[in-house]
Amino acid sequence: MFFFNQNLIEDYKSETQKIRVMSESWLQEYGYCVRCGKKLKHFKNNKPVADLYCENCLEEYELKSSKNKLGKKILGSAYSVMIQKIDNNTVPNFFHLNYNKANYSINDLIVIPKHCMCKSIITARDPLPQTARRAGWIGCYIDISSIPKSGKIYLIQNGVSIDKSKVIKQFKKTLFLKNMKDEPKGWLLDIIKCIELLDKSQFTLDEIYACENILKIKHPDNHNIRAKIRQELQILRDYEYLYFSNRGEYSLDKY
Ligand SMILES: [Zn+2]
Repeated sequence: MFFFNQNLIEDYKSETQKIRVMSESWLQEYGYCVRCGKKLKHFKNNKPVADLYCENCLEEYELKSSKNKLGKKILGSAYSVMIQKIDNNTVPNFFHLNYNKANYSINDLIVIPKHCMCKSIITARDPLPQTARRAGWIGCYIDISSIPKSGKIYLIQNGVSIDKSKVIKQFKKTLFLKNMKDEPKGWLLDIIKCIELLDKSQFTLDEIYACENILKIKHPDNHNIRAKIRQELQILRDYEYLYFSNRGEYSLDKY
């Protein structure tokens, strides 16, 4: 079981600040870069966007802590900034830490790799009303439920630490999405999500075709979903996300 260090917060009154101080300190001490496994460093407040980074491979991380488990959607920053960051490939990896308020223990720590985020999961909120200090400002939601499971990697689950090599392996499994443009990446993430819906490591083309209607709703302009599915499976095979067997089956594990 992991706990926040409460000695750090004697001088703080606001609960938000206390959590920020304890969780960032904890992540520096016990967390690690999910790409290379090295320790994380804190940005010296000159970079408000990301909270931590890896000196070794330069991956950047933003940390959000909550007493609630990771839900279907989370609040993001300004909508236009978020969209721009996805376009520029400057969005950080995202840590979600769920703590227990009663004893400041840590339940879950999940990382969402930046390459698993695409524009279709970002929705604009209503502009702030005229009475607000930042009237007209438009924030956003990040639709976590649209991200496939392989893009929600647990480092700690129900208080139990997951093997570091397993975490890094899972992160690297989708790393091929990193340099892709938003639209092709969105398609691949949708197909990965369909594969996960089958919930088995081996499957046939017909089984994936069963997801045709889900994909039609998401991509109404595409009139040949089945051909697209085959094309995407081919790409996933090229990147060794999955494998073809000689019996015409697909497998998530190497034969
Ligand atoms: Zn690193």
